[in-house]
Amino acid sequence: DLIPVTRALLSVSDKTGLVDFARALAARGVALVSTGGTHRALTEAGLAVTEVSDLTGFPEMMDGRVKTLHPGVHGGLLAVRDNPEHQAAMLAHGIAPIDLLVVNLYPFEATLAAGRPAAECIENIDIGGPAMIRAAAKNHEDVAVVVDVADYGAILADLDAHGGAVIRATRRRLAQKAFARTASYDAAIATWLEGEYAAEVAEAPVYRALGGTLAQGLRYGENPHQQASFYRTAGAARPGVATARQLQGKELSYNNLNDTDAAFECVSEFDPARTAAVVIVKHANPCGVAEGASLLAAYERALACDPVSAFGGIVALNRTLDAEAARRIVEIFTEVIIAPDATGEAAAIVAAKKNLRLLVTGGVADPRQPGAVWRTVAGGILVQSRDAAVVDDMDLRVVTKRAPDARELADLRFAFRVAKHVKSNAIVYAKDGATVGIGAGQMSRVDSSRIAAWKAAEAARVAGAPESLARGAVVASDAFFPFADGLLAAAEAGATAVIQPGGSMRDDEVIRAADEAGLAMVFTGHRHFRH
Ligand code: 5GP
Repeated sequence: DLIPVTRALLSVSDKTGLVDFARALAARGVALVSTGGTHRALTEAGLAVTEVSDLTGFPEMMDGRVKTLHPGVHGGLLAVRDNPEHQAAMLAHGIAPIDLLVVNLYPFEATLAAGRPAAECIENIDIGGPAMIRAAAKNHEDVAVVVDVADYGAILADLDAHGGAVIRATRRRLAQKAFARTASYDAAIATWLEGEYAAEVAEAPVYRALGGTLAQGLRYGENPHQQASFYRTAGAARPGVATARQLQGKELSYNNLNDTDAAFECVSEFDPARTAAVVIVKHANPCGVAEGASLLAAYERALACDPVSAFGGIVALNRTLDAEAARRIVEIFTEVIIAPDATGEAAAIVAAKKNLRLLVTGGVADPRQPGAVWRTVAGGILVQSRDAAVVDDMDLRVVTKRAPDARELADLRFAFRVAKHVKSNAIVYAKDGATVGIGAGQMSRVDSSRIAAWKAAEAARVAGAPESLARGAVVASDAFFPFADGLLAAAEAGATAVIQPGGSMRDDEVIRAADEAGLAMVFTGHRHFRH
């Protein structure tokens, strides 16, 4: 058990206590071997030391990256002393045993803590040091390994008490400490890399999986402290924000891109051959949607739904932007305009607003186009097919005594078309092909109902209209009313007809309430959750 220490290899970045320790070892008859800087420190102190390059037959090279990575060193650390084959290998290759290893690592943690540049942190990742530490710790039956200056005294105490040997108990304790040190060292590096390359770590696997290409590095994400990039995915080109041409304006931000997508996907629900349509989006929710005989007429009515929210919004149009619509849109602070195209005159009008981004897509997107959409959850990705359901294709079932009239039916379709693009819980009031009150993103449907009704009253107040715009309007709900309360809120606000998926346990109760309030109600059988 007690083999005297005859040779020690010292290779330390932190040279605290080094000379005294080495001198004490030498005084006890231990031969010293060391690497460049350590060697220099020891010879300057007048000690006799062998250079590690004499063991390896190689000079230290590549800025010190390769110093001790050699069988001349690792053989001496790993050879099992009472194994004849190992002994024969040492003899055959001129490898001398190393009984004591003294290493402390390149100061990666300190370099990082000092806020040094990444390249310097990388250069302070020690390779040969941990390799030697692990070799010696693995072979702790024969080798003692010291990774901490604080353990120098314990080694000397053992040597003195045990005839120049380090006892097994000490070797085991030091081996455990050695592995703990290399583990914490690598953990520090891994944690740093994770933060350093956070954006790429998060995005790279996903965009690669989708065959995407980097379209634009973004200044930041949803918030200034978040990194972000915009990737264009492969596959069928879909007119929209990823394929659009930006004719002018500031660089698009992460939020701009997200909101513009929401606006353009919504306006694409309106066939340009049938009607002009305009969608105004704020925070990924429509705050006004309208059809019209012209883009200008549609814009005016979309704006009237919620002129306060429209400030700083995104405007999406389903037809070529013309001069009269452009002239009106630029009167209000707008972040982005997106349209299939723009006339020269319209583009010139927009050009007067330098920052305003104008995007042209070449057409509207097909709302029925199949495809996948995905989002991340912690540690995973959720994938689903797009919500390609369109109200025009749905079998609308009248469930009340009164059926909606033709005007109501057209508005019900319109409202449900919009509700698909409003965050759940979505309640949309509409009249004559324009939204008049939108309740979005509430945790209860009745709250969305109340908010939508309140918005309709508010829009009337701003417009100086005598009564709430909800009066005589229709209302759409993206999912069934679980209770009659949401529906009653709509009736109270003055709605005359309702469109909703149906399918609640309490449908009977809700239908009865609708009948009692004189409402016409249709079920679509399709839900349009959007979370
Ligand atoms: P010195 O100051 O003696 O030149 O270098 C001591 C440092 O080099 C120690 O921190 C030790 O862990 C480290 N070291 C020893 N061998 C190697 C090697 O082969 N590659 C690298 N990158 N570092 C080493």
